[in-house]
Amino acid sequence: MIPFEYRRAEDTDSAVTAVAADPRAVFLAGGTNLVDHLKLGITAPDELVDVTDLPLDAIEDTPEGGLRIGATVRNSDLAASPPVRERYRALSLALLSGASGQLRNRATTGGNLLQRTRCPYFQEITTPCNKRSPGTGCSALHGHNKNHAVLGASDSCVATHPSDMAVAMAALDGTVHVRSDRGERTIPVTELHRLPGEQPHRDTVLERGELITAVDLPPLPTGTYTAYRKVRERASYAFALVSVAAVLRVDNGVIDDVRLAFGGLAHKPWRAETVEERLRGATPAESTFREAAEAELSAARALADNAFKIPLARNTLGAVLRDLTTEAAR
Ligand SMILES: Cc1cc2nc3c(=O)[nH]c(=O)nc-3n(C[C@H](O)[C@H](O)[C@H](O)COP(=O)(O)OP(=O)(O)OC[C@H]3O[C@@H](n4cnc5c(N)ncnc54)[C@H](O)[C@@H]3O)c2cc1C
Ligand code: SF4
Repeated sequence: MIPFEYRRAEDTDSAVTAVAADPRAVFLAGGTNLVDHLKLGITAPDELVDVTDLPLDAIEDTPEGGLRIGATVRNSDLAASPPVRERYRALSLALLSGASGQLRNRATTGGNLLQRTRCPYFQEITTPCNKRSPGTGCSALHGHNKNHAVLGASDSCVATHPSDMAVAMAALDGTVHVRSDRGERTIPVTELHRLPGEQPHRDTVLERGELITAVDLPPLPTGTYTAYRKVRERASYAFALVSVAAVLRVDNGVIDDVRLAFGGLAHKPWRAETVEERLRGATPAESTFREAAEAELSAARALADNAFKIPLARNTLGAVLRDLTTEAAR
């Protein structure tokens, strides 16, 4: 056992000051990812600053008609909250598709966004892994890579980002609020996570000591439908092979707003901007969905074990669009 200090932060200022003061201190939220990493020897901070008592646990309407979700709101509370179920159904579905009831009762909004990859080599500290130990190599590139990325990967890392919630928030155009001893800033959810490039040890654009305080979701125009579909190996308690979050509005038989994100395909939630461009202004049709998906996925590069993800992503996207446009037409 490697010793570490534990501190329960009482206010946000003292939490960010404590982490700023010690380069080996980290924030602790539900602990469902971080504590596993301590046990596996993936990380060894010398201080854990527990943020779960901070007054960041509210789900509130914003003046613009959107929703502000505090960083310490538990995943189960967020999935069950009436405004999320009624106005942002994709987010509730995404949360309920993740982990198990017990884990969702502990896991928080901030921690879920910042959970790390489930690449098995990252979790096994005896193997080379550029994300865990920069410069050691990537065991997955020519190893077992069925669950790995087909979009935006590099030779340094082919890991996927595991969060279902983040995929829904990316399609919903969420904005992350962060705070540190240097002040506050906002980051679109779509820009929070990084592609691996040559620095796969950096999962996000956050700087050391930055605390996520909330996520804002903008209001959705009347008549907007949202969905989340996750394809996995078991009916529950499994990470996505492929997932799709969709936000769609049809007006007079024409798609006038569409926002789509894939999970399970890349190192970050993957906004399907090519599909969006092709569908905006189009009449819903199977052939249009398929051509748009194929245009997006023409950039996909399969590894030895994961070529199946490309047609799976195309078909899952097609099914989600078919369901949503049918619902919108009723
Ligand atoms: C068996 C199992 C199955 C799972 N299945 C799924 C699944 O299907 N889908 C899915 O999406 N997830 C799944 N998860 C992951 C789970 O959702 C995450 O572990 C959880 O969301 C992490 O939240 P937490 O609050 O426990 O974070 P913690 O473990 O406390 O923290 C995670 C990271 O975030 C940092 N952090 C936490 N809060 C903040 C903050 N406010 N600001 C800055 N940094 C912060 C911590 O320092 C740490 O680095 C699974 C987990 C397990 C163990
Ligand atoms: S894919 Fe990324 S996380 Fe997995 S072994 Fe390679 S470098 Fe490590």
